[in-house]
Amino acid sequence: MSAAELGAAVRSGQTSAEEATGAYLDRIAEVDGQVNAFLHVDRETTLEQARAVDARLAAGEDPGPLAGVPVAHKDVFTTADMPTTAASRILEGWRPPYDATVTARLRGAGMVVLGKTNMDEFAMGSSTENSAYGVTRNPWDLGRIPGGSSGGSSAAVAAFEAPLATGTDTGGSIRQPAAVCGLVGAKPTYGGSSRYGVIAFASSLDTPGPMARTVLDAALMHEAFSGHDPRDSTSVDAPVPPVIEAARRADVEGLRVGVVKELGGEGYQPGVLRRFTEAVELLESLGAKVVEVSCPSFDAALAAYYLIAPSECSSNLARFDAMRYGLRVGDDGTRSAEEVMSLTRAEGFGPEVKRRIILGTYALSSGYYDAYYGSAQQVRTLIKRDFDAAFENVDVLVSPTTPTTAFPLGERTGDPMAMYLADLCTIPANLAGTPALSVPCGLADEDNLPVGLQIMAPALADDRTYRVAAAVEAALTDRRGGPLLAGSAFAV
Ligand code: GLN
Repeated sequence: MSAAELGAAVRSGQTSAEEATGAYLDRIAEVDGQVNAFLHVDRETTLEQARAVDARLAAGEDPGPLAGVPVAHKDVFTTADMPTTAASRILEGWRPPYDATVTARLRGAGMVVLGKTNMDEFAMGSSTENSAYGVTRNPWDLGRIPGGSSGGSSAAVAAFEAPLATGTDTGGSIRQPAAVCGLVGAKPTYGGSSRYGVIAFASSLDTPGPMARTVLDAALMHEAFSGHDPRDSTSVDAPVPPVIEAARRADVEGLRVGVVKELGGEGYQPGVLRRFTEAVELLESLGAKVVEVSCPSFDAALAAYYLIAPSECSSNLARFDAMRYGLRVGDDGTRSAEEVMSLTRAEGFGPEVKRRIILGTYALSSGYYDAYYGSAQQVRTLIKRDFDAAFENVDVLVSPTTPTTAFPLGERTGDPMAMYLADLCTIPANLAGTPALSVPCGLADEDNLPVGLQIMAPALADDRTYRVAAAVEAALTDRRGGPLLAGSAFAV
């Protein structure tokens, strides 16, 4: 069942939150030994929540269409009743004293927290191999990466261990794992979803969003956690884009679609490009007007991102100082605070996190600031202008979500540059703050693995990405005679 169907079944009394949640917990117990999507599951706490939702419903309360539907949270969202580690040793065992806004709003909507999902440490990575707690496997092929950094969330939904999951997208961490696991993943407009209670990576880019098996499911959760949050100073105080209505509308008649020239061609897997081209032809056959659009500054997006994101992280991660949270190493009464801090950070952070802190500290240091951080910020402005110019002529932009399908575990761990290339297509939308969504558009011929179509829209026009995605989803489902599911490939 989709999350929408499950929510309806709970509403009609056909099932209960407790029964639905129990079924998902059973599935987790059955397959997560192989997938390793979850860092934390607590059956009793979760079932207690489910019973509380059933009691709310019995008392006549109407929390909305997702009441009684379970959700898995990326372990970067704080949860008052479960540990939160950002997959780092430095936060091992930390129990937050409060819920993130996203967590709290979804509880308010009657969703039950199934557990916390694995991720790249502090959301830095594209494969979930940078977790301090082991790799997560792609349910389509257990020898491959589930994408990252929200790879625990993508694997959980693809393996039917959760109907919906949350993710965060700083450079592509919702869209890329969604694409390689055959899911829908949306990065809302920056500021459209609250960062309050989300462990910070790069604050000017971090954006929470939904991961789902259908476009409508993603839209239902998107609306449930969106809306202005006075606790986040960059939260947008504007009406929530009508994404549910757009997901139901699902038509592209007369819509102007721009194919980004710079995101494709050499270096892209042929099977990815083939499915992408077909998706564009499909949109045309459904009545969209397709043109090619050039966004020349996108070529510099990756380089700019890998200065801006590490710079911000070097500042954000200074708070992990052995005094405030989690791990403390070497505090035996003989060492100074500085020594304890240094020993804790040396042991608590993994290699990729250290690489980023060093890179960011360097880029921000006096003498280099203008050359590196300053230039990167200028590139960011140029990228924003490319989007603005493009959106004068088209309603949405499209590209493949990722240059390749899911790669084998271990293939890129020794080569950070190769790993960074996984986000080539997703990063421009983060730098500009615009909404973007990935929807499955078939399987690549070479390896039978999912390919994602990325749809980008102007700020606060998130609904357009849902409208196009829903049209593609509906047409492809009809053509195939059913949804695209990992189930058939996932032998347990
Ligand atoms: N893979 C990118 C990185 O490593 C993006 C991560 C993200 O979006 N959180 O920074």
